[in-house]
Amino acid sequence: MFRPALRSAFSSLETPFYFYNMSLLHKTLDLYTSCLKKYGYHAHYALKANANDRILEAMKLAGLGADCVSGNEVVLALKSGFSPNKIVFAGVGKSDKEIQTALEGSIFCFNCESIPEIERINELAGGMGKVANISLRINPDIDAHTHKYISTGRAQDKFGISPWMFGEVWELLSRCLHVSLIGLHFHIGSQITDIQVFKTLCVRAHTLQKWFTDKGAHLQVVNLGGGLGVDYQDPLTHSIADFDSYFALIHQNLKPLSGQQVHFEPGRSLVAQSGFLISRVLYVKKGKGIKFAILDAGMNDLIRPALYGARHHIINLSSAGRMMRYDVVGPICESSDRFAKSVLLPEVKRGDFIAICSAGAYGQVMGLQYNLRDLAKTYYSDQLP
Ligand SMILES: *Cc1c(COP(=O)(O)O)cnc(C)c1O
Repeated sequence: MFRPALRSAFSSLETPFYFYNMSLLHKTLDLYTSCLKKYGYHAHYALKANANDRILEAMKLAGLGADCVSGNEVVLALKSGFSPNKIVFAGVGKSDKEIQTALEGSIFCFNCESIPEIERINELAGGMGKVANISLRINPDIDAHTHKYISTGRAQDKFGISPWMFGEVWELLSRCLHVSLIGLHFHIGSQITDIQVFKTLCVRAHTLQKWFTDKGAHLQVVNLGGGLGVDYQDPLTHSIADFDSYFALIHQNLKPLSGQQVHFEPGRSLVAQSGFLISRVLYVKKGKGIKFAILDAGMNDLIRPALYGARHHIINLSSAGRMMRYDVVGPICESSDRFAKSVLLPEVKRGDFIAICSAGAYGQVMGLQYNLRDLAKTYYSDQLP
C-alpha cells in the first residue's frame, strides 16, 4: 500500500493531508455494484460521507445516485452531473430554501421525516405548480447496536416518522395534492457491524409496508438506507466491507412488493477504507508513564476520535524500530484532541510520517478551521508515483 516510491513522494508534501487510494476505491465500487446487479437493487451514495470531486465522480461513473442531506448537497450533486432522477433528499430539518432548491432541480424523491415537513413540501410544490415525490422516513424503533450518536432508528431518536403517527400521516396525504407517496425509507444508524440488525429491519419493513398497502398505497420503492460498518481495527486486512454477506442477508429476508424497487444509501462502507490522514510527528514528549507523539494533524482534521471516541488504526510509515507505547495527540488546545491512547507503534521520532487509516468517510468532510488552522489538502494515489 505505502510503497517506497509513494513514501518518498510524501516527503515533498506539506502535512497534514488526506490521501485516497483510488484503486481500492474502484475495487470497492466494483464489488458493491456487482452485488447490486446480482439482485437488481439500486443505490444512492450518501454524499455526506465524503463530497470530494474525484470521489463523487467515481460514484457517478459506478452508476450510483446521490443521497443528500442538505440543499447544498443537492446543488453539488446536480453540479457534479448526477441525474436529477437519481437524487434523494433526507434530513429532519429541511428549510424552505432547501426544499425549493430540490423542487427546482426536479429531484427523484424527498425522504420526509415529519408531518409538518410534508405539509410544507406540499405548499411549496403547490406554489411552483409541481407534484413532489415523497417517501416516508420511518422510525422503526430498532436498536442498531452502534454508537449512541449514530443510532438513528430508536423511538427516542429525532429521525423519522413513528408508526403511531401513521393514521395522521395518511389522513394528511389524502388532502395533499402536491405530494405523491412513492415509498418507505429507513436508515437506522451507521457503523453497524452486527448485520443481523438488517434482518430485523427487513422483517419490520414488511409489517410497516403492509399498513400502507392495506390502505391502498402504491409503494414503488423500499429504501433500506445505509449503515453497513467497516473494520476500523484491522483496515489493511479487511479493506472492503463484506458486501456479499450483507446483500445475501437482505435478499433472504426482504420480500419486496410486486414490481417494487429496492434502494440503498451507502456512505461509509464505500469510502472509509480508501482514505488516510497523513501527518508528520512534530515532537515526542515524555508524559506521566507514557510518551506523547504529537502530530501536526489535529481533531480539526479528523474529529471522529474526539466526537465519538472512535478508534482508527495508526501506522508509523517511517520506522520499523522496536514497539513502544504512545498517546498519539494533535496540536489543538483541547484534551480531547487525541487520536489514540496507549497504542503500540514502532519507535516514533520527530519527522516520522504517521498514517491514520479508515479516514475516507466522515473525515475530511468534517474538517474545521478551529484554532484558525488550514484545512488539510487532498492527494489521490493516481496523481502520485
Ligand atoms: C448518513 C446517511 C446515510 C449513510 O450512512 P452510512 O452509515 O455512511 O452508510 C444514508 N442515509 C441517510 C439518510 C443518512 O443520513
